[in-house]
Amino acid sequence: MKAFPIIISSPSGAGKTTIIDAVLKRNKTVARVITATTRSPRKGEKDGKDYHFWTIKQFEQAIKKGQMLEWAQVHTSYYGIPKKSVDGLLKKGICPILVIDVQGARTIKKIYPQAATVFIIPPSLKELKKRILGRNDNTQDIELRLETAKKEVQELDHYDYALLNDDLKKAVEVMSGIITAEQCRVVRQDLKKIKNLK
Ligand code: ADP
Repeated sequence: MKAFPIIISSPSGAGKTTIIDAVLKRNKTVARVITATTRSPRKGEKDGKDYHFWTIKQFEQAIKKGQMLEWAQVHTSYYGIPKKSVDGLLKKGICPILVIDVQGARTIKKIYPQAATVFIIPPSLKELKKRILGRNDNTQDIELRLETAKKEVQELDHYDYALLNDDLKKAVEVMSGIITAEQCRVVRQDLKKIKNLK
């Protein structure tokens, strides 16, 4: 199988991190690309594991040197993907999972047209609010987040897959299924090797 990026978007709080963490535990053919950010770590988040927590100066230097595949300012912080993190995994034959907002997804898809894209949908705005509040997040900007969520869902048309995160266990199964199916696509195989069956 030729490795390819898997792009995953959703409104904040819809369940990307939770679903991906569960998938990563059982599927070693995929790995999460760690995003760099200038936002402060939430309780329990570790540098280099959850995010690369960079200073604004570090981040701006990486942009200047052309080392970021994509970056954006969300609310008041920078978020971005170091290019070498994606290319390093592809070289190893591992599918990089990119958790990224809807604009970033478009940029990445242009750079890696072979990427598969998945949009995770929350069951409702009410449930999304409950999940964000339950995460013990900075909830000052909750209304802004919900407004952003409504806009982000409008971008669903640009994605290959729509994954409703209602029941978590089911959502993890579906995500695993999407990955497996994508990895089995004929275009992603080393056909020469397969057809020369020995
Ligand atoms: P994201 O990474 O998209 O911002 P998270 O994975 O952090 O979202 O999920 C937000 C919160 O919702 C977390 O507290 C998580 O445990 C919870 N959560 C995720 N999926 C479900 C689900 N299907 N049902 C109930 N709670 C969920």
